[in-house]
Amino acid sequence: MPRSYVHEARRRVGPKRARILPIIQRLKAEYPDAKIALHYGNDLELLVSVMLSAQTTDVNVNRVTERLFKKYKRPEDYLAVPEEELERDIYATGFYRQKAKALRGTMAMLLQDFDGHVPRRLDDLLKLPGVARKTANVVSAELGDPQGIVVDTHVRRLSQRLGLTRQEDPVKIERDLQRLVPRADWGIFPHLLITHGRRICIARDPRCADCVVNDLCPSSRV
Ligand code: SF4
Repeated sequence: MPRSYVHEARRRVGPKRARILPIIQRLKAEYPDAKIALHYGNDLELLVSVMLSAQTTDVNVNRVTERLFKKYKRPEDYLAVPEEELERDIYATGFYRQKAKALRGTMAMLLQDFDGHVPRRLDDLLKLPGVARKTANVVSAELGDPQGIVVDTHVRRLSQRLGLTRQEDPVKIERDLQRLVPRADWGIFPHLLITHGRRICIARDPRCADCVVNDLCPSSRV
């Protein structure tokens, strides 16, 4: 896209600080059902689901965990079976060797350092083996205390298209969003963008004519 066109589009929609609240309000009104797509019944199941969701779909994870959570209910259960058995039980989520190793390492640390409970602080979650920033952010947000903003592929694409960041690196994108999005919305904001990204602002072919924020978006094609 030529620079002059981008500049003109940014000028037309106005500064991001003035647009962020209407963007959030309209997306909330459009997607009152926006929430995490993973199925879980407690903190431990949430952590396991999010760890398994790397490089696969939420639908796939839900299919696997429906059986998994009947067999593995406590951290001890993940350590009581041979690693190969756990690998077989999570095989369909892909990268099963790394994931099994990470799950067992995490369960051992939960037992040793956190009395078998899932910690809520981001810093503690990040100590768990195989738990990266995105996973920690999803877990802390779902547990009711978001301490950052989840940046996945949809959040990254939409934040860029909406002119909320010019960064490419997820950590820098998160930092830009934290400065912009009201703290009270840190938990819901990624779900709004993910839902909008799946239904309307599709990666290859955004449906700008049907988009509720197209007058606030510098990348709008209408
Ligand atoms: S106007 Fe188009 S590019 Fe912008 S957010 Fe909506 S669908 Fe995405």
